Amino acid sequence: MTKQNLKWLLCGITTVAIAAAPGAWPMLAQDETSTKSAAEEPPYKPKTKRELQRQLTPLQFEVTQNEGTEPAFKNRYWNNKKKGVYKCIVCDRPLFTSNTKYKSGTGWPSFYTPYKSGNVAYRKDNKFFYTRIEVHCSRCEAHLGHVFDDGPKPSGKRYCMNSAAMKFIEDRAAKKTASDEKKPEQIQK
Ligand SMILES: [Zn+2]
Repeated sequence: MTKQNLKWLLCGITTVAIAAAPGAWPMLAQDETSTKSAAEEPPYKPKTKRELQRQLTPLQFEVTQNEGTEPAFKNRYWNNKKKGVYKCIVCDRPLFTSNTKYKSGTGWPSFYTPYKSGNVAYRKDNKFFYTRIEVHCSRCEAHLGHVFDDGPKPSGKRYCMNSAAMKFIEDRAAKKTASDEKKPEQIQK
C-alpha cells in the first residue's frame, strides 16, 4: 500500500466516524427518504410512433410530434372558461390550470404561467424568421406551443398553446355545484 492509498483509507474511516456521530443521522435519513420518493414516481415509458398514432388523432399527432400548429379560433379550448386542469394529451402530466388562463385574443388557449415550472421545458425554435421559444412537456417531450414576452402580470409571459396537445379535466367540485341546481328528483316534483 502506498502512502497515498493509506491517506485515502484513513480519510474514509474518518468520514464514517463523522457520519456515525450523533446528530449526523437525521440528515442522512432525510437524504435517503428524498431519493426514495423520487424513485417511487412512476417512470414514463416513451411510446413508439405506432403507439402514438393509435392513441392520438391525426391533428394531435401532428401538433405534439411534428411541432404543428392548429388553426386559431378553430380549436377546442381557446374560449373554454370552465374550471379545471389542462393535462398533456400524451402522458397526462398536468400542464396548466384555468386559474392562469386568460383572454389573449389570439384564438389559442393562453396562460400566463404553467401548473408547475418543472412540468414544461423549453427549446429555441429558429424555424420562423425570428427566434421563438418552443414549449414542450417535460415528461414526454410532446410539443405544446410557444411562450412570448407579451403576457399579463405577474409573469409577463404568454404561453400560447395548442388545444390539440392538451386534455381538459374539469374541476369536479365546480361541476357539482353547477349541476346541483338541476337534481333529477326536483325536476320530477
Ligand atoms: Zn407529456
